[in-house]
Amino acid sequence: MKEKIKALKNLLSEKKNIVITVHRGPDGDAMGSALGLYNILIQEGHNVNVISPNDYASFLHWLPNNENVIVFTEKEGEAKSITANAELIFLLDFGKISRLDTYEEPVRNSSAAKVMIDHHQEPDESISDLLFSDVTACATAQIVFEIIQEIGYSHLINKDVAECLYAGIMTDTGSFKYASTTQKTHHIIADLIAKGADNAKIHDLVYDNFSDNRLKLLGYCLNQKLQILKENNAAIISLNAEELEKFNFQKGDTEGVVNYALMIEGIVCAAFIAEKEGMVKLSLRSKGDFKVNEIAKKYFNGGGHTNAAGGVSDLSVEETIIKLESIFNKYKSEIINTKF
Ligand code: 5GP
Ligand code: MN
Repeated sequence: MKEKIKALKNLLSEKKNIVITVHRGPDGDAMGSALGLYNILIQEGHNVNVISPNDYASFLHWLPNNENVIVFTEKEGEAKSITANAELIFLLDFGKISRLDTYEEPVRNSSAAKVMIDHHQEPDESISDLLFSDVTACATAQIVFEIIQEIGYSHLINKDVAECLYAGIMTDTGSFKYASTTQKTHHIIADLIAKGADNAKIHDLVYDNFSDNRLKLLGYCLNQKLQILKENNAAIISLNAEELEKFNFQKGDTEGVVNYALMIEGIVCAAFIAEKEGMVKLSLRSKGDFKVNEIAKKYFNGGGHTNAAGGVSDLSVEETIIKLESIFNKYKSEIINTKF
């Protein structure tokens, strides 16, 4: 770690053209980490751009300096030229370059030094010059905080930085309730509040900001679409494109839906399937030591963490449900014997 910090310090010792990017469909941790780092680096006089592969949920648009984020799919030309001119690229909250989607090629072609900061399992070592990987970290934003500290930039953590990193850690820990939340996390959160993060405001902006359609869609999922596989201690919620259309689906509207299935007594594994942008996306969640990232990786070309993973299916929603049911049957004894 010491050597890596030295190398990063060296990379930042002169003013540079810097790009910060995140995985496709960035969540609170990805955008919080990216804008947290952005709000540090602009104070050091670097020319910094945050480029997201695609658009993201509106409940993240309040993040300080979000208006400066360039969405690759909306401004390809500008994003490509900025990327080609970059001297340093930060890759945040993902370990596989394919998660950049159509932005992968411009990043690959860039001669910039690449620094990856991530907390997912098995990050690809070959795509970065400098890799900060901590799979025990609850959020990439926590690692970003630690790097800022190690590098000697703590004095640059202002209210903007603190609110971005707070949002990252809050969203990736399910508001500090997942097992990944440690004493260290709470110490960092205390520090961020001391630096000006308004915890109640951030919680309100992220979680109590639903449109009426979003709340009705959640009601529909729970009332009509929740399929409980009692024998398997598992549950599936699914939505096809027409159903999403009916509720005027906006990005982020289905975030968190999968977690409701885990609120049922005895359910230790839950899946949410949705047909979005011509793809069938899966979100998998579990409790205890049942590893949903193995299922995501093996059957759905995806990955993630032990208790939260995702991937894509090349089948229809209906066929994906059938495939999942058979997977849950295969893993039945493992699910039933989950240790907490
Ligand atoms: P979510 O279900 O919220 O989209 O994602 C949950 C977790 O799974 C996140 O940590 C995310 O990084 C990971 N994940 C989601 N989709 C994919 C995917 O398509 N590929 C990989 N490798 N990981 C994913
Ligand atoms: Mn994350």
